[in-house]
Amino acid sequence: KQLGRSRTETYSTNMDFGMNDRLTISNKLRRAVESMDSFSLHYQPQVDLNAGMLVGMEALLRWDNPTTGGITPDVFIPLAETIGLIVPIGYWVLREACSQLKAWEDKVGDGLVMSVNLSAKQLQQPDFVEMVGQIIEESGVDPTHLCFEITETTALGDMGHVLSILNQLLNRGIHIALDDFGTGYSSLSVLNQLPLRTIKIDRSFIRDMHAGSDHIAIVTAIVAMAKSLKLHVIAEGVETEEQKQILKDMNCDAYQGFLLSRPIPAEQFEDKFLSH
Ligand code: C2E
Ligand code: CA
Ligand code: CA
Ligand code: CA
Repeated sequence: KQLGRSRTETYSTNMDFGMNDRLTISNKLRRAVESMDSFSLHYQPQVDLNAGMLVGMEALLRWDNPTTGGITPDVFIPLAETIGLIVPIGYWVLREACSQLKAWEDKVGDGLVMSVNLSAKQLQQPDFVEMVGQIIEESGVDPTHLCFEITETTALGDMGHVLSILNQLLNRGIHIALDDFGTGYSSLSVLNQLPLRTIKIDRSFIRDMHAGSDHIAIVTAIVAMAKSLKLHVIAEGVETEEQKQILKDMNCDAYQGFLLSRPIPAEQFEDKFLSH
């Protein structure tokens, strides 16, 4: 009964699929993963608030399927996780992001960090660290130019195991960022248990941050706490100049958001941010 109930809930939140129900989409996803042709990565810039310089980019997966129309990652990623496809998809994402980073470094030199999102299911693969090592080697990128974004939910799965994997990745030089910070229920205890380099303040806090809003106090506290833990802080979802200015005044390190750019294809990213 429990299962039936959660299924119904999942379905009802995805009602706007129209003719495409979960089963149909799952089948399309299975077929799409065979060639990966209909997938691509978009990149969203991250800029240092103080220096105003580009410091890196986040790779975000897109699925372009003519028969399903645009299905957003918020919908197909959880589905891919459920039906076990996130593992092959995740390796493809990492390969693609690494080879893109290599191409950009060859063009503009290093100094950029490529961020890639990870799902819990990926970390659970027994050969995950080995596969990551292989992909890094094949692409020729410096692992210290890579950042894996995980969420609290990922971290909380099997803490002991997750910790061991994260430490192995860290030993190879890869940075770890805690994504969507502030949305979980045990954020604070996770902070000093995980080998984190960065936290990303969830966009729900940034969205409601304007003159006179309580969110300013919350974000100020998060930034101050992160600083005292020697963590790098990135604000997500910055959409207005006002939000950017408030974050700068707080000494937040970097920001990401539509104000700067939406996630865009590689060629566009290159034209806009890497060619001068
Ligand atoms: P996320 O990791 O929190 O990524 C940030 C999301 O916020 C992206 O949505 C991005 O387009 C959106 N965003 C960025 N700036 C703004 C802004 O200023 N305003 C608003 N309203 N939104 C903004 P997107 O690309 O649809 O991705 C949604 C989620 O799907 C991601 O959330 C991430 O959890 C997941 N995802 C995307 N690509 C991958 C992937 O390659 N692997 C895994 N495991 N998950 C992925
Ligand atoms: Ca992310
Ligand atoms: Ca996020
Ligand atoms: Ca998210």
